[in-house]
Amino acid sequence: KRKLDPEDEAPRKIHEIGHGQAVAAHYNELQEVGLEKRSQSRIFYLRNFNNWTKSVLIGEFIDRVRRKKSDITVLDLGCGKGGDLLKWKKGRIKKLVCTDIADISVQQCKQRYEDMKARCRYNEHIFDAEFIQADSTKDLLSSKYNVPHMCFDICSCQFVYHYSFETYEQADMMLKNACGNLSPGGYFIGTTPNSFELVKRLEASETNSFGNDVYSVKFEKKGEYPLFGCKYDFHLEEVVDVPEFLVYFPLLEQMAKKHGMKLVYKMTFREFYEEKIKNEEHKMLLRRMQALEPYSTFGDSKLVSDKPDDYEHAKEF
Ligand code: SAM
Repeated sequence: KRKLDPEDEAPRKIHEIGHGQAVAAHYNELQEVGLEKRSQSRIFYLRNFNNWTKSVLIGEFIDRVRRKKSDITVLDLGCGKGGDLLKWKKGRIKKLVCTDIADISVQQCKQRYEDMKARCRYNEHIFDAEFIQADSTKDLLSSKYNVPHMCFDICSCQFVYHYSFETYEQADMMLKNACGNLSPGGYFIGTTPNSFELVKRLEASETNSFGNDVYSVKFEKKGEYPLFGCKYDFHLEEVVDVPEFLVYFPLLEQMAKKHGMKLVYKMTFREFYEEKIKNEEHKMLLRRMQALEPYSTFGDSKLVSDKPDDYEHAKEF
């Protein structure tokens, strides 16, 4: 038996284990950045805009559930370091289960929750929380982690679902985890890149990639877009440098039907912004979250960045 050179072995390993471990390793390594440094970032407004979008979306679906019941339970699928914890606190939910493939992120998310809890004033409400490290494209959360009591009103999957479209089995398992434990009338909400926009830009480019000095997207080739495993490398300054997969939304919609789901709505970020900004509260939140360039107004189109391309890379849900 020939001792394999690690270089030889690498491609086989990726094939065997999929890209999940690479994704987990990447997110585990991301450093948490303080507020001051974050405000100097070139993607400060983009990041804030994404956060505003998630806040409005999450708030809207909490309100929808609250019309029917008061004790709301939520699954945050791909919770990362807990970027949405405050949104759940503001929504006064009862219980949150956070899960992510990256173990260090899950630990940081838990720590963030503990800190939040410790800062709570007397009588201030905070939800109960549980934290689970799992690959939601491969592990069935309810059985592997022995949490049969799991029953959610909302599953929130923010900027995560595209990692599952490596194979049909993975995409279906993530859907099962997202929708399989929803109570009747529950919601699966999320944000994911807009594949139509990605392919349009790729086709318009002379090479296999496109982007600007803040982000880049690189495909292996043009012209062939398989339904699963259509990988591209996404780089965004300070945040992501990992393989992602195109999600063909009509297929996702069909697959979700199998799990008893019905589409409520799907919008691009721009459409969502244009609709939600009509509401005064959302408009004020946008200002408070500094999701607009300081010199821009609501009337013009400078939403996130002075580089229209950054905004155009907006993700779709
Ligand atoms: N949802 C968080 C947010 O909006 O701040 C984090 C989003 S981050 C862009 C993507 C997250 O998806 C990472 O934390 C990553 O570890 C997680 N993820 C990727 N593949 C996953 C999988 N197979 N199972 C669970 N989580 C996964």
